[in-house]
Amino acid sequence: MTGIGDPQALVDHLPIGVFVYLVVGPNRFDRILTNRFYEQLFGLNRRRTDPQTPPPEGDWAIFGPLKSQMELARQSKRTVSFDWQIQDAPMDRHMTCQVNPITDADGHVIQLLGTVMDRSAERRAERNMMHNALHDPLTGLPNRVLFLDEVEGSIERLEKTTDQHIGVLLLNVDRFKLINESFGHVAGDEFLVTLASRLNGCMRQNDVLARLSGDEFAILVHGITESSQIVALADRIHVEMREPYRIGSNEIHSSVTIGIASTLTGTISAEDLVRDADFAMHSAKAKGKAQTQIYHRESHHRAQSLFQLETELRKALSNEELELYYQPIVDLRNGRVTGVEALCRWNHPDRGWVSPGEFIPLAEETGLIVPLGRWALKESCLQLSKWTETYPDAKDVVMSVNVSGIQFAQDDIVGEVERALTYTKVDPSRLRVELTESALIENPDAARDILTRLREIGVEIAMDDFGTGYSSLNYLHTFPIDILKIDRSFIAEINGNPEVAKIVKTILMLAEAFDLRCVAEGIETEDQAKSMAGLGCHFGQGFFYARALPPEQSDGLFVDFAPDGTKE
Ligand code: C2E
Ligand code: CA
Ligand code: CA
Repeated sequence: MTGIGDPQALVDHLPIGVFVYLVVGPNRFDRILTNRFYEQLFGLNRRRTDPQTPPPEGDWAIFGPLKSQMELARQSKRTVSFDWQIQDAPMDRHMTCQVNPITDADGHVIQLLGTVMDRSAERRAERNMMHNALHDPLTGLPNRVLFLDEVEGSIERLEKTTDQHIGVLLLNVDRFKLINESFGHVAGDEFLVTLASRLNGCMRQNDVLARLSGDEFAILVHGITESSQIVALADRIHVEMREPYRIGSNEIHSSVTIGIASTLTGTISAEDLVRDADFAMHSAKAKGKAQTQIYHRESHHRAQSLFQLETELRKALSNEELELYYQPIVDLRNGRVTGVEALCRWNHPDRGWVSPGEFIPLAEETGLIVPLGRWALKESCLQLSKWTETYPDAKDVVMSVNVSGIQFAQDDIVGEVERALTYTKVDPSRLRVELTESALIENPDAARDILTRLREIGVEIAMDDFGTGYSSLNYLHTFPIDILKIDRSFIAEINGNPEVAKIVKTILMLAEAFDLRCVAEGIETEDQAKSMAGLGCHFGQGFFYARALPPEQSDGLFVDFAPDGTKE
């Protein structure tokens, strides 16, 4: 009989597995009914014609868990539900199962009726979702989340061992943007996939490779005892990278920059380890392409405090915490103050005085030198116009302002000078711009043009720190320059070192021939002042006369100096 009246046909239509086992004895069951779904699930044959045939479950190998749950139901006489997972190939099933005891009139369990639901597809979908959340779709490698998790797990395991450490290599592809732009994104993707497999080839089996972002990969290295082991891996990678990549019809040459951090310098969190490797990688980038850098705590701290200083300098600029001090420039023949040099000062509310030797290079590196320089230009001209009103003696004094090579290259210095002069109504002939050689040498044609325009405005131009660079006066003379400031390292040795004296003499001679005036920088003693005057140097500047002074202390600044450096 078929149709709805037939129990077998009825259960065969169910989309879940159904089975009935006869309880033969403790832990002994005979299958007496199964439906199609169940049979298909386990690849069983229906052999109900011969009830004596031993169950195809055989030794119950994969049915072990079912059997023990059936035994549980038999003993407890209760319905048992359980998750049933079979991961033996070719079976890979995740099922939920229920076994119901069927009792006779005496309360003995005589049969077990069960249902099986196949959850494998759901599980697979869940697993896929998990996988996608933790892996990079392009390369199939673990992503940042999973990588951090792996590192975290390794750190936890480390705490149980003593002499083993882990390291993290952070790799960034040099100029990856260029690869994408020149060969297209498809080629870029292919490149990344090939790179991933090359990296894989460099690692040991239990190391973990991950793709953290676009062109950034990371390797977790286990079981290291010294940093040279990680460096060796980095070296292998650099060598491997030298081989060009054949992507489509293109041959791509590329390299990676590697930053390394490890637990050798102390156990830290996964986040910190990756951040440190990232910091090292960026330091390596600063050195050029295809470099490796191991993380050093000290340089990180230095960078951090530099960063903090930068933030504070930015604030200082906008809060007008910076000041200009003024150091007189004296005519060595008669002690008359002919000019002043504006020197920037920073009195930090917590740090105290920060030396220009510290914050000027920082300002140059961060671009803050442009607003700083503009401010100095305007502020010093403003001060000059105030002095001119207050002190009749100051009416011919020239204001020297330092302009950094960086500002010179980046800013519209001619425009800035014009604006400062117009704003303060200072006569152009009373402003002198001090530049170093490097500002001119890097881009000589542009520099020559700018200097010519400054000259046309009527501003003087001084070559600062002269003698410390490499270029000859012969060459510098091709620029429109008015003044040479002989570097203070020469002045310091003028009386003790005949070689230096000879060089200074030559500089002064050439300057004379080229119609340049000279300022001796850093005069600290009367002897130095005399020697420089004796050699025919016109002007001097230095602690012997005065240090740079705040404008409030300018009373008497414009009165002539006596030969012993005191005020007359
Ligand atoms: P610089 O332009 O060569 O300035 C002269 C430096 O020598 C000043 O240092 C000054 O205080 C110092 N000095 C003057 N006389 C003597 C002396 O007799 N003995 C010794 N040992 N030193 C003397 P300071 O003020 O620390 O400035 C250092 C450098 O910072 C300057 O060198 C200049 O390159 C830069 N700087 C200072 N202010 C500014 C500014 O407003 N803009 C720019 N772009 N750079 C500035
Ligand atoms: Ca200077
Ligand atoms: Ca100087």
